[in-house]
Amino acid sequence: MLIDLSEILSIEGKTQVVEAPVSMDFFQSKLGSFPVIEKKPICVTLVNTGKKVVKIEAKGSIVLAIPCDKCLKDVPTEFEVDISEEIDMKASREDRIKDLDEINYVTGCSLDVEQLVHNEILIHWPLRVLCKENCRGICPKCGKDLNEGSCECDQTSPDPRMAVISDIFSKFKEV
Ligand SMILES: [Zn+2]
Ligand SMILES: [Zn+2]
Repeated sequence: MLIDLSEILSIEGKTQVVEAPVSMDFFQSKLGSFPVIEKKPICVTLVNTGKKVVKIEAKGSIVLAIPCDKCLKDVPTEFEVDISEEIDMKASREDRIKDLDEINYVTGCSLDVEQLVHNEILIHWPLRVLCKENCRGICPKCGKDLNEGSCECDQTSPDPRMAVISDIFSKFKEV
């Protein structure tokens, strides 16, 4: 959703509250594409603090399905949206981007709620996603979900990835 800021900019001291629905059904980024499984409207409060400065507060949350790092099962992951920022509308978009915190969700006279939510998700992206603390993952040989029980595969033979690592170690020894 795009919020038109021209109304708030026209009256100093004015406050405007917008319940902005989120339209994205997938979160797409370099990390991949993740389905949105729950979303509520984002509550956006705009305050014209004078001299063409608008204070923007946005609160809400969105839940994405992200695969477990180990077993690839979808894990519902909640992202909080909670920002409070002041934007000087006198500055051009280029000037605002030059300012350290890049506010890319305001273009011209409109605030792009999708872009704002997108930024918040990226900022809060978890380092690890696990379906549970002690997820056993999937068998690298047969692909069985080991949380559902062990498989018949021989797990004692060295993992090819470990072989690469020991290669590196032996190279170090030669130096
Ligand atoms: Zn898992
Ligand atoms: Zn197996």
